[in-house]
Amino acid sequence: MSLQNYIDRINVINENIRKFSQYPKKVKLVGVSKTFSVEKIQMAIEAGIKVIGENKVQDAIAKFEKESFPGIERHYIGKLQSNKVNKVLNNFHFIHSLDREKIVKKIDKSGSQIKCLIEVNTSGEKSKGGVEPEELGNFICKLHKYKSIRIVGLMTISPLTKNEDEIRKSFKNLKELLEANKKNETDNIHFNELSMGMTNDYKIALQEGATMIRIGRGIFGSRK
Ligand SMILES: *Cc1c(COP(=O)(O)O)cnc(C)c1O
Repeated sequence: MSLQNYIDRINVINENIRKFSQYPKKVKLVGVSKTFSVEKIQMAIEAGIKVIGENKVQDAIAKFEKESFPGIERHYIGKLQSNKVNKVLNNFHFIHSLDREKIVKKIDKSGSQIKCLIEVNTSGEKSKGGVEPEELGNFICKLHKYKSIRIVGLMTISPLTKNEDEIRKSFKNLKELLEANKKNETDNIHFNELSMGMTNDYKIALQEGATMIRIGRGIFGSRK
């Protein structure tokens, strides 16, 4: 793919942000670069990408060792394993996939100021991570004793379906949970960010209030 291809794809996404979001200026485009090479990431950055998302710690670090991508924000969007948390803290600016107290405890203890989003399983699919929606209030209350960790919002992955109503329901659900939990905010726990929407469903997510959209194939092309 040429630089122009990347520019064209990013332009389409940015137009859709203006078209579908109620607050386009607040929306952050996360270019999900998992499985793609350093060269391709550099091309996407040249085309305007300012935030990249990776889901495997080792793969991501191997890329960052080759190229540090100065000025680019790095978001961790994959499953969190307790024994790799420190590597995530040292190599990323955001975590989208916080869903266990054990990990919260570890981050809090480290004193890291990495910004975290709590993943919520709005689809009910067993294969997906995330706190169950009906458990979220409880989970957040348990976090109140941690005074260092920074929580900034919620993240979800929509159900695997072509049914737009179901996808929209999942995003609406996340937005409602965000609003409902504003009463549970503390000095270090805030609910402002909604990370939702990927290549196939980001327009719906934007209509439903996404502030971060995570797009891989829509920027980099299909993954082998
Ligand atoms: C892979 C991935 C994405 C991007 O998916 P695309 O369909 O390539 O846009 C977004 N979020 C998470 C958590 C992912 O793992």
